[in-house]
Amino acid sequence: MQHEKLIIIGSGPAGLTEAIYAARANLSPLIIEGFEPGGQLTLTTDVENYPGFPDGIMGPELMEKFKKQAEGFGARFQMGQVEEAKLQVSPFVLRVGKDEFSCDALIVASGASARWLGIESEKRFQGRGVSTCATCDGAFFKDMDVAVVGGGDSAMEEATFLTRFCRKVTIIHRRQEFRASKIMLERAQKNPKIEFILNSAVKEVKGDKTVGSLLIENLKTKEIKEISVQGLFLAIGHIPNTAIFKGQLPMTEQSYLITKSNTTETEIPGVFSAGDVHDFRYRQAVTAAGSGCKAAIDAEKYLESLEGH
Ligand code: NAP
Repeated sequence: MQHEKLIIIGSGPAGLTEAIYAARANLSPLIIEGFEPGGQLTLTTDVENYPGFPDGIMGPELMEKFKKQAEGFGARFQMGQVEEAKLQVSPFVLRVGKDEFSCDALIVASGASARWLGIESEKRFQGRGVSTCATCDGAFFKDMDVAVVGGGDSAMEEATFLTRFCRKVTIIHRRQEFRASKIMLERAQKNPKIEFILNSAVKEVKGDKTVGSLLIENLKTKEIKEISVQGLFLAIGHIPNTAIFKGQLPMTEQSYLITKSNTTETEIPGVFSAGDVHDFRYRQAVTAAGSGCKAAIDAEKYLESLEGH
């Protein structure tokens, strides 16, 4: 078993900021990248609100810069996903595929993954017209009609992005009011290629080999109608990646990790958490990076206290 002083789970803005700070503090951290290296920002296009980039920057490029900066200070990266974590033993033990690692301190920055509607037919057409990432799959739908589900910033951003390729984009939202910020909502509303269907839910995805249409229920009138689309993009939020910590670390009802107030410490000394895996409120790249910085400083202090004994 390979032993490490500090392991960081996750390589989004939180994990990579931890890597920069911890590596610069000579802790030579090992980062286990997870199944989506670079995290959610690698699934996005223009990032216009990350400070320091007045002209905006592409999400994947920003994450590459974070990683390069961390590597420059000696951070090491391991591909793969942590499938099991034993946090009741000291040192902590993690299993990544066939490999096992132990560590004195651990930072969990495993982020959150896309939420699905929960209807059977969406999974049947996954990768055959149903997607949770417009940035990844949008280009496949050139000159086609697609729908986006959701009423938040992600739905507005994805719909606006999809108009670069698609003929028509229909936003389907279950309410009349939107969670999206005013600027992003207005941008979508002003786009002539975008239409809205409100107070409605997708009941079924239909098609032969690929998506052909959607059955949509008006939640007020209960009326069902069918719209013809070749693609369905889900932009209905995320679920924190905390399954392997169930029963070991305290969580909210929605499975977000709970940290002690104003720190990144969990209930287990030596285990810290940062980024979207515990932040259900702000969920921004810059807040994730900020909490990653705090977690690295907290972990550094913890490791120092171990050496003092
Ligand atoms: P969100 O703000 O939580 O919005 C999720 C949307 O999906 C809501 O409108 C919700 O409807 C709907 N929804 C949830 N579950 C559903 C279900 N089972 N069926 C149908 N609809 C469902 O999530 P988000 O849009 O992913 O944004 C997350 C955070 O990232 C936000 O803080 C956002 O500001 C930020 N963000 C920022 C940018 C940017 O600035 N460039 C881009 C993307 C995201 P209800 O409203 O009815 O609950």
